[in-house]
Amino acid sequence: MSLDLRDFQPLDPPQRLLMGPGPSMVHPRVGAALSATTVGHLDPFFLACMDEIQLLLRKAFGTNNALTFPISGTGSAGMEACMVNVLQPGERVVIAQNGVFGGRMADIAARQGCEVVKVEVPFGETIDPQAVRRAIDGKATRLVGVVHAETSTGVRQSIPDIAAAAREVDALTLVDCVTSLGGIPVELDAWGVDLAYAGTQKCLSCPPGLAPVSFSQRAVEVLKARTQKVSSWYLDATMLLNYWGGQRAYHHTAPINMLYALREALLLFFEEGPEDVFARHQLHHGALTAGLEAMGLSLHVAADDRLPQLNAVRIPDGVDDAAVRRALLLEHDIEIGGGLGALAGMVWRVGLMGHTARRRNVLTFLAALESTLSQTKASIHAGAALEAATAAYD
Ligand SMILES: *Cc1c(COP(=O)(O)O)cnc(C)c1O
Repeated sequence: MSLDLRDFQPLDPPQRLLMGPGPSMVHPRVGAALSATTVGHLDPFFLACMDEIQLLLRKAFGTNNALTFPISGTGSAGMEACMVNVLQPGERVVIAQNGVFGGRMADIAARQGCEVVKVEVPFGETIDPQAVRRAIDGKATRLVGVVHAETSTGVRQSIPDIAAAAREVDALTLVDCVTSLGGIPVELDAWGVDLAYAGTQKCLSCPPGLAPVSFSQRAVEVLKARTQKVSSWYLDATMLLNYWGGQRAYHHTAPINMLYALREALLLFFEEGPEDVFARHQLHHGALTAGLEAMGLSLHVAADDRLPQLNAVRIPDGVDDAAVRRALLLEHDIEIGGGLGALAGMVWRVGLMGHTARRRNVLTFLAALESTLSQTKASIHAGAALEAATAAYD
């Protein structure tokens, strides 16, 4: 194998508008934080940053949980970290599944040797807490898992009643907040949630690479009462606790610059103000929906159950899913997502996450989609979308 460096171009990524299911647009201040000077992971400056990040994360998650910190890995590593620390083989786990990510939770629980009971509803619907209570069935259950914001479908799930059902049998409630944190309210303590994980590249507008997690005191007690070691060395919270907790004992080298980026993203969230951030997501979702509907398109999820930050748009008959996404990307520099699992080929997933949720992006996307669809067999109402979206803003 010969290596000829003349074959390599200088790194120059295209300037894309990221309107898919993540990553979202990175805020310039987050980008700048990423390239700040790297210090050692035990440097007093960095240790102070860690304290600040934990403080900001607790506030963002709506919790006082001491064990709240970012896992070095993407959202799925956060999911795995929450599960492997509290599960042991043979334990009973109930997973509410209305999309791809609930399925991933069930897979991880099964790999831990747990007995997995699924509560399944079609992709695009919400989970009825009574169905979860029936699946728990009064039996000793270690964990009940549910996804707050199902990025594969665009469904927003209410959590408190499911957490209450779990509490009746002393089960821990685990909530996937990967797409919800920073986009819609997350209130772990008020909802009675024991374990939660998120990700940086959705509504927090960071690059992918970290998974904030939070463990309640009840979850920490389950961890401490284990009879077997945690199956994963890297994700073992008892050791991570020694680094993120008081002692700052080396476990693995923290990804310093990603942590700078997360700190900046969390500061941006609180500077704008959580209420205003959530209202901004709702505003642009409203304008996007108005534009899509004026064009003659429809959303897959019932209006009351929709996430503002992830919009599943039904693909009109006779339209080539992949060709439209390719045209948007290559001709308009706009990335959207295709459908996953049961919704593959049926929907496009249009993200309005974090820094992406801006008026200019909504209008740019609607114009590009209309121009792309007008070259297909789809029967759309041309010329109506921008006016409808603009009217929604007024
Ligand atoms: C993106 C996502 C994940 C997985 O996160 P990765 O960063 O891709 O590992 C898990 N759950 C939900 C709801 C997501 O949207």
